[in-house]
Amino acid sequence: MVCEASICDEASNRRSECSALFSGNYPLVTRDHDVVVLGAGLAGMRAALEAAREGADVAIVTKVHPIRSHSSAAQGGINAAIGELDSWESHAFDTIKGSDYLADQDAVEVMCREAPRDIIEFEHMGVIFYRGPDGKLGTRAFGGASQARTYFVGDITGQALLVTLYDQILKAGVKVYEEWFATKLFMDGGACRGLAALEMVTGELHLLRAKAVVVASGGLGRLFEPSTNALICTGDGYSLAYRAGAPLMDMSMVQYHPTTLAGSGFLMTEAARGEGAYLLNSLGERFMKKYAPNKMELAARDVTSRAEATEIAEGRGIDGNVLLDLRHLGADIILKKLPQIHEMALDYLGIDLMKEPVPVRPGMHYQMGGIKTDVEGTTAITGLYAAGEVACVSVHGGNRLGANSLLDTIIFGRRSGRASAGYAKGTPASGGGEDLLRAEQQRLEALLARPYTGETCAGLRLELATMMDQKVGLYRSEKGLSEALETLQRLRKRYENVAVSDKGRVFNQALTFVLELGFLLDCGEAIIRDALVRKESRGAHTHIDYPERNDRDWLKHTLLTFRGDQEPQISHVPVTITRWQPEVRTY
Ligand SMILES: Cc1cc2nc3c(=O)[nH]c(=O)nc-3n(C[C@H](O)[C@H](O)[C@H](O)COP(=O)(O)OP(=O)(O)OC[C@H]3O[C@@H](n4cnc5c(N)ncnc54)[C@H](O)[C@@H]3O)c2cc1C
Repeated sequence: MVCEASICDEASNRRSECSALFSGNYPLVTRDHDVVVLGAGLAGMRAALEAAREGADVAIVTKVHPIRSHSSAAQGGINAAIGELDSWESHAFDTIKGSDYLADQDAVEVMCREAPRDIIEFEHMGVIFYRGPDGKLGTRAFGGASQARTYFVGDITGQALLVTLYDQILKAGVKVYEEWFATKLFMDGGACRGLAALEMVTGELHLLRAKAVVVASGGLGRLFEPSTNALICTGDGYSLAYRAGAPLMDMSMVQYHPTTLAGSGFLMTEAARGEGAYLLNSLGERFMKKYAPNKMELAARDVTSRAEATEIAEGRGIDGNVLLDLRHLGADIILKKLPQIHEMALDYLGIDLMKEPVPVRPGMHYQMGGIKTDVEGTTAITGLYAAGEVACVSVHGGNRLGANSLLDTIIFGRRSGRASAGYAKGTPASGGGEDLLRAEQQRLEALLARPYTGETCAGLRLELATMMDQKVGLYRSEKGLSEALETLQRLRKRYENVAVSDKGRVFNQALTFVLELGFLLDCGEAIIRDALVRKESRGAHTHIDYPERNDRDWLKHTLLTFRGDQEPQISHVPVTITRWQPEVRTY
């Protein structure tokens, strides 16, 4: 069937039938750059800025406007040991203890040593960090930290960093392909040489050829419901890199944040507890004294989330929640330092944090695992780099400390930008890719042509995400994980019948939602398989059949390598220990 572009445009509005959207009617567009960065969050923009500073011709591809990336939702702050009483070693130790000793200590050392200089650099770029009455940069306490070392801008730290970085990349001449959706990496002779992307406003597919690609596409939070993550956090980059042959590491390490708003799952920043808020059970007790007598509400997130779950399971919750009490902080702190969460509690639950405690529960928040990289962002694939939440360096191991993720994005974003530009300098431009583009066009066309069978994308996505929360969430068991894998495989079969309701060209989100669901299924399978392998409890991976941490057998990372229709290959690499031997972890 042949259809004219104009008819298709009209069709997209009326959602009528027209299935030949990507067929030969449109030119195959290719563009060439030295470095293409997938993602315009903090990691992607920091990588792009650094690559441009190194003299590379750089482009960013992002499915939303850069400042709508999930980094803009980060509230609480960013860690660095800057103060006279603090040291990078103390920051590193807290991070390693927080990780339940699964983090690679050489990578943590790099991050913590370089943190002060990068924070100061961001201030010089224009981020107005909070300053105390003495005019010096001010900090707040965060979970699992032995010092208050979190620098912040109210409770909109991510946004403040992101808009500043956006200015910088525009100034540096980085080309931004915004509202372009990457569908596949372009592999040539075993190396990554670009990607295919759908320009959402026209519906045209493009090939962006590059000497090096940096994947900085953020997390996969929407694999779980509820989640604190934006709807766009659908694990695209994990799946794209995995299918191209890059191993995924420690995917079972999924963080549940202790304070997500009852009902919606929106985040109530850890900064609230950092400023002194209490957690209470239905008896009005600060129950954390039983679980973490020293750090109380500021224990690491895995510990605090499990404590809340125990209180709720033992009948001391309130409708499946516990309470976060800020009343004693007073209006000044709440309105000046935590205005966003004050507004959220008021808007969504009608609760005034100055007058009433707010119900919260543990909710999915962050993926510690990801595409395995070294400290330069290098992956197992030539020409392919990764940084930010999608990467696993690994600095977070089994459990990330609050305010260490923004830090991870800017440190390893910068490093991967430099490394990819350096690699591009010595690499000739590659041609080709037209075959990939044609194959992608046919794939998308076939997707659009699928008849409606009653199976919907939204329905399947909710089923998947609810199942992940119930069976692969805070607590796991052998039985639950095996059931989860079976369910996932059934969902995968049903996914093949999902039709795209909108057949049009312009902003066909029905199509991109279906593509995202495909990415989520890959991520879900990787998490479940990794969790099935790890027969111990460590960090966020709480296995009720193996309740103890087992350093003898499990002080190692798990790698999953894609093998087409066969089950992924599972292998292990040791954890790098530099100076901190594993100890019993108490708070
Ligand atoms: C509510 C919330 C609060 C948080 N608060 C804090 C905090 O206070 N401190 C802290 O350290 N951490 C915090 N975190 C974690 C931290 O914000 C994130 O881990 C981090 O910002 C991720 O940055 P990123 O650059 O890796 O990805 P993101 O900022 O998520 O950006 C991903 C980019 O990839 C693009 N992309 C993805 N898929 C595609 C595709 N297929 N095609 C084209 N583009 C694509 C997106 O458009 C986007 O630009 C918070 C997280 C959440 C959800």
